[in-house]
Amino acid sequence: MQTIVHILFNALPLCGFTTERPGNWPAGQRWVSHDDRAPLPADHVYCEDCVEERDNVFGRHEDDEELLEEAMPDSSEGAPT
Ligand SMILES: [Zn+2]
Repeated sequence: MQTIVHILFNALPLCGFTTERPGNWPAGQRWVSHDDRAPLPADHVYCEDCVEERDNVFGRHEDDEELLEEAMPDSSEGAPT
């Protein structure tokens, strides 16, 4: 079973799927701190609602922008002269 990782802020998941403390969450639900960007194991996936909320509340992380730029082809190279 895939483990859903929620993003915790003030002891609650950002998506608000529960008001329980993490110790009382259903099986398969885990959490990380809102500023923890450590890579997740392959069978873990972030809760999309939590990620969206985090971007709304905290803004995009600088590392995310850099990763996006690296993925984009460099338009200045290969241009006809
Ligand atoms: Zn969530």
